Amino acid sequence: MSFDILLKGGVLPDGRTADIAISGGRIAAIAPHIDGEAGETIDISGQLVSPPFVDPHFHMDATLSYGQPRINASGTLLEGIGLWGELKQIITEEAVIERALSYCDWAVSMGLLAIRSHVDTSDEKAMIGVRGLLEVRRLVAPHIDLQLVAFPQDGLYRSPQARDCTLRALDMGVDVVGGIPHFERTMADGRASVTELCEIAADRGLMVDMHCDETDDPMSRHIEQLAYETQRLGLQGRVAGSHLTSMHSMDNYYVSKLLPLIAEAGVSAIPNPLINITIQGRHDTYPKRRGMTRVPEMLSHGIRVGFGQDCVLDPWYPLGTADMLDVAFMGLHVAQMTSPAEMRRCFDMVTTESAAIMGLADYGLEAGKKASLVVLDAGSPVEALRLRATRLLVVAGGRIVARREKSPMRLDLPGRPDSVDRRFVP
Ligand SMILES: [Zn+2]
Repeated sequence: MSFDILLKGGVLPDGRTADIAISGGRIAAIAPHIDGEAGETIDISGQLVSPPFVDPHFHMDATLSYGQPRINASGTLLEGIGLWGELKQIITEEAVIERALSYCDWAVSMGLLAIRSHVDTSDEKAMIGVRGLLEVRRLVAPHIDLQLVAFPQDGLYRSPQARDCTLRALDMGVDVVGGIPHFERTMADGRASVTELCEIAADRGLMVDMHCDETDDPMSRHIEQLAYETQRLGLQGRVAGSHLTSMHSMDNYYVSKLLPLIAEAGVSAIPNPLINITIQGRHDTYPKRRGMTRVPEMLSHGIRVGFGQDCVLDPWYPLGTADMLDVAFMGLHVAQMTSPAEMRRCFDMVTTESAAIMGLADYGLEAGKKASLVVLDAGSPVEALRLRATRLLVVAGGRIVARREKSPMRLDLPGRPDSVDRRFVP
């Protein structure tokens, strides 16, 4: 047999050691020992090989715009939305494309090869971003699965052009229907927006992913409506609620009713730990709420959860590196998911679980699937989380798109080893 690429001795996320053969853009075989010629044979013994990282919630129209035209002084969601409104007045399609492509370079370098990005569809100015990101989706298609969500960010009813622009964006090929019910003028308008947007998705056979209850308001109830409409319209398995931060503050009795409703409707949840922990609780003194939704409780009800990154260097967040291990690391801490099984689950929430939410049928380390994967300088998923491990090799669609040599830190200490890589075997 002759392959394009043969990876020898990698450690799979489940702990098995395997060789991986790649041919014609596909995984040709995964087995304990594969013999054969290959265009390139690479020894990855002892290194974790994982399906690519997946970011199920991002804003690529705003990324890498930090400081334009000014920074967010209060750090709140509402000032960020206002700031984005100022930036929209001065952006060009070329600038959106350039920033997004730069970000995609970062993503590839971190093994992040599937991204669901919301794109503002509030008004004519925002349509510059829609056109730009549709072009970016085409340009990065060989190596990144970029899925776009039509997002009437200023409110479907609050912004006069939002409804028309959202429908046009879907006509232009944007993949998923978004929304922001908690930003509409009233709870009633928010509820109506959930209904109308879910009906649009049902009519067009599309998925739904709404920014939902991204507040500290314990009375915010839009996730309830989203679960209801999902069931009424037969959208089970195609709907996600992003953020759901109000669930952090809700009454426990109400949540005991709500969680089974979400599970029954097959609605997935996408918390964004880096952003939720920095943006929520801004009106609190002490004790100060964390503002992340109830992840372990959702998991125990069988609700699918994927962690998203949401923002990198934009009006809402002054940091970010396209590293989904940072996202999972923060999520693990905020949700107090520190048992071995829970930590492992946090790794799945930035890989396989988020891929399932995005409906990526061709994703995974299995013979016949698209040959996209990442090799990490770690011995296991949990060690990758602990180390925020270095990416050694990234393969996208059967092609090596990023690589670096393993280079441990050299030490010069009397009587001690001459290098250290902080690996740990209990
Ligand atoms: Zn968002």
